[in-house]
Amino acid sequence: MKIILWILVSGMLLLSSTADASELVILDIGHSMQSRGATSPDGKLSECAFWYKNAGEVKRAIEVAGYRCIICNRSSAPTHEPYASYAKKVGVVQLNKPDTGVRYPSKYFPSRIGAGMVSADFGIEQKPACMVFLHLNSTEGWLKSPVAGLIIHSRVHGKTLGESLQRAFNEELLDRPGGVSNGGKGCRTIIRYRKEETASGWLNALDDAGIPSAVIEALYVNNRVHAAYLLTDAGGKKVAQTVAHGIINWLASRSRHSR
Ligand SMILES: [Zn+2]
Repeated sequence: MKIILWILVSGMLLLSSTADASELVILDIGHSMQSRGATSPDGKLSECAFWYKNAGEVKRAIEVAGYRCIICNRSSAPTHEPYASYAKKVGVVQLNKPDTGVRYPSKYFPSRIGAGMVSADFGIEQKPACMVFLHLNSTEGWLKSPVAGLIIHSRVHGKTLGESLQRAFNEELLDRPGGVSNGGKGCRTIIRYRKEETASGWLNALDDAGIPSAVIEALYVNNRVHAAYLLTDAGGKKVAQTVAHGIINWLASRSRHSR
């Protein structure tokens, strides 16, 4: 009897100390390789190409921490190397909706409208613990002075996820060893949610489904220091790990609170 009890108790302890393998994270690579989203003024860096190259590292780190992870993209598979191989290697789920940039409604919450809404709908179907949209930010031309990066979170359910991602960027990446700096001033990530019911269609659709979500817009393709850093293998990997840590820390705090 004692032995059975011991097995039971140690089994329960083991279960409670490891991550819940049923917890799923969905990552979405923004835009498509046909229309690559924001591109640096010299054309060397685009947000879609960056994330095809580096999203696999986010997934790897999430899986090492004991969670499941699926990467999706709204469009068809890249046809050019090395991006075709990157997509194949990490098993990107291609949602095969031609990316025309036109905004259209969510299948599940038709009042929510956005370009690439097929990704949010895929996320809603998978019932994940959270969904994170991988982007890079941009304005016109090369930036003359640094601008703070953004993490945008869903209004109702995404706040603590957004805060965790913000913490990871501020504590692990910006002005940190191995990270990126643009001179300190403005080199911080701020979080916000959109008040409008009409903008941020993906986040609002996921919010309606009760799924915490956030968009990463923390680095600028038109900031020369960021762009040079993002184009290096080590820089891309560090950014990917920063996103992964923001997600993993949030998942861990969430399961601590629910116990
Ligand atoms: Zn984008």
